[in-house]
Amino acid sequence: MSLRHTANDIGLSPNGKALDSDSSIVGVRVPQAQSFIPRMIARDFLHYRTICFGAKQIAMMADEKSPARISHRLFATSCSEMGIKMKILLTAVNSKYIHSNLAVYSLKAYHDAHSDRKDTVELAEYTINQLQEEIIKDIYKKQPDVLAFSCYIWNIEMIHRMICELKKILPDTDIWLGGPEVSYDAKEVLKNHPQIKGVMIGEGEQTFCELAACYENFDENCEKELLKVRQICFRSQTGEIVATPYRELMNMDELPFVYQDMRVFEHKIIYYESSRGCPFGCSYCLSSVSRSVRFRSLPLVFAELQIFLDAKVPQVKFVDRTFNCNHERTLALLHFLRTHDNGVTNFHFEVAADLLNEAELAEIAAMREGLVQLEIGVQSTNLQTIEAIDRTMNLEKLKKVVASVHSVGNVHQHLDLIAGLPYENLERFEQSFNDVYNMQPDQLQLGFLKVLKGSKMYQNAKEYGIVYIDTAPYEVLYTKWISYADVLTLKAVEEMVELYYNSRQYVQSLTYLREFFDTPYAMFAYLADYYEKNGLFAVKHSRMTRYQHFYDAAKLRIMQVQKAPDSADFSGTQAESGCEKTKDMQMEAQLELFTELLIFDLYERENLKTRPPFAPDLQPYKNVIREMAVVYAMPKTAHFELLSERTLQKAGISVDLPERESQKQTGRPDSPNRRIWTAFDYEKRSCLDYGAAVYLLAFADTAGDKKQ
Ligand code: SF4
Repeated sequence: MSLRHTANDIGLSPNGKALDSDSSIVGVRVPQAQSFIPRMIARDFLHYRTICFGAKQIAMMADEKSPARISHRLFATSCSEMGIKMKILLTAVNSKYIHSNLAVYSLKAYHDAHSDRKDTVELAEYTINQLQEEIIKDIYKKQPDVLAFSCYIWNIEMIHRMICELKKILPDTDIWLGGPEVSYDAKEVLKNHPQIKGVMIGEGEQTFCELAACYENFDENCEKELLKVRQICFRSQTGEIVATPYRELMNMDELPFVYQDMRVFEHKIIYYESSRGCPFGCSYCLSSVSRSVRFRSLPLVFAELQIFLDAKVPQVKFVDRTFNCNHERTLALLHFLRTHDNGVTNFHFEVAADLLNEAELAEIAAMREGLVQLEIGVQSTNLQTIEAIDRTMNLEKLKKVVASVHSVGNVHQHLDLIAGLPYENLERFEQSFNDVYNMQPDQLQLGFLKVLKGSKMYQNAKEYGIVYIDTAPYEVLYTKWISYADVLTLKAVEEMVELYYNSRQYVQSLTYLREFFDTPYAMFAYLADYYEKNGLFAVKHSRMTRYQHFYDAAKLRIMQVQKAPDSADFSGTQAESGCEKTKDMQMEAQLELFTELLIFDLYERENLKTRPPFAPDLQPYKNVIREMAVVYAMPKTAHFELLSERTLQKAGISVDLPERESQKQTGRPDSPNRRIWTAFDYEKRSCLDYGAAVYLLAFADTAGDKKQ
């Protein structure tokens, strides 16, 4: 129950007299109360519009001489006796439902651990995908006395829009902002947004706790109290913008563990912080502003990780900026995770791959498939660029480490690239893209430079001719080296990479299609061009239509390559000059292989209800399929497909069926491209890429099968 809510619910006497002399509750409407409550009280309580006092409080007022003391005592005793409480709402607007905002949980946990008012701070989490009106409505219903938003580049524009409306409907609510997006230009934020009372700068736990106390205790001079809170910038009652001094960085061990009740985080990604800060100084990154790194003690970290392991949460993402910046600690953590594996939980880290040493790599190599995944920032393979952005990276070492991890095949590696960096034009970026693609990451994240307030890049933007969007996320438009048209091309390429590479739904077909292009970048640029020319970017697609567009684009490309005068076949052998028939046969074989690989990709992910138009009809085989399901004891959900030996080999599956069976079933043991009944079992999936288990059952006797 908030102050305002309670006051509205209780009948108030317009003249300030007791409603019922027998009752311990009397009502006072504050404007009238000004005549007998000292001015200070009236001013303070006007903040809450109306308030009710018990008889005890009225008596106390009469006894008390000092207005300030009356104000303070009255507030505290009245509120607690009448069950009225201050409501401070910590609000997060996440980019996706599955995310949770660690910052607001940490602020609340720290506050609750250090305050005797444990019930004043509430949390509210929303997403940027919700309607703004829905969020405003929900916040209004909560009637907060203080409303604090956690601000990042992905939500700041929405928050600014919302606070304009919120201030209209909650005029007495003080609005505070915090987070990286407002920490580096707090004064500007306050100047530009008159609805905001103040900004919490930087690390927030201690600051928020002290700020909340100012409101909770509501001393005789709240503004005087605010001046004592370090690291805030606020608007005084006279309209002046006041900044308080900075505070010491916190000891990480003083942070409470926020995941005491795991039920709150069901179906959410768990974010965990075992360190703050980064020892490196990349000029585009805010983590480089303070080079200091602070660690949470390992015994504490182990105990907390064990809680996640015991709860069998699906994924824990470390938000540590460079997880492996300390060898001894990294090795201890990796060893702990390997030896305490629960068989389920996946741990995600951001690492500097070139720093991983032999011992750490050996720990990783010995881990269960899918126990950890690594996010590795490469950003560029252009050494001049790397130097210009103050990045410390040994590219050759990084390549070796990525290859070493890849060779074991038990860990997903996400490699990041940034477009729009200094000294990288489109051509040079293509090379960075190809270099990173050739490292065979499981995810290739193509990002665009964001010029963040507070970063060194922000200061150097003019020097590099970097022009970027004025509002968040401050993404690059063009630079001295790359034009806006180039940026648009890369945006389209990025969309293709997301769809056809990072989705991991086209692994085999995409790998094969790559053979028809000079470089990986050329393939994605071709797909982007195909989408552009066919107006496909502007349309929403179902999963099946995505497959169909990919099939159509690939078919066109295979035909173009074969019809080109200097065409070479896919294995690199020059086709006989003028031999159109041979070319056509080759093209048909290539198309057939591509189609089967696409069918393989499709069914490896999902047993679709609708059969794609490019897949052959399996209706004539329905009896054989039914029989096979029984004979091979396959689950009901399994899918059966007829695939050629060549397709399966191309997909990395060795065809090792007993020859005897081959002869019995086909009668053609030497057939160059025998077809094999293949089963996809969705009840057994890979924990790395979620692909179904694939079984080769038997060579097909096509004619005989159909007869049954
Ligand atoms: S980009 Fe990564 S390595 Fe560089 S300063 Fe930021 S967190 Fe540290």
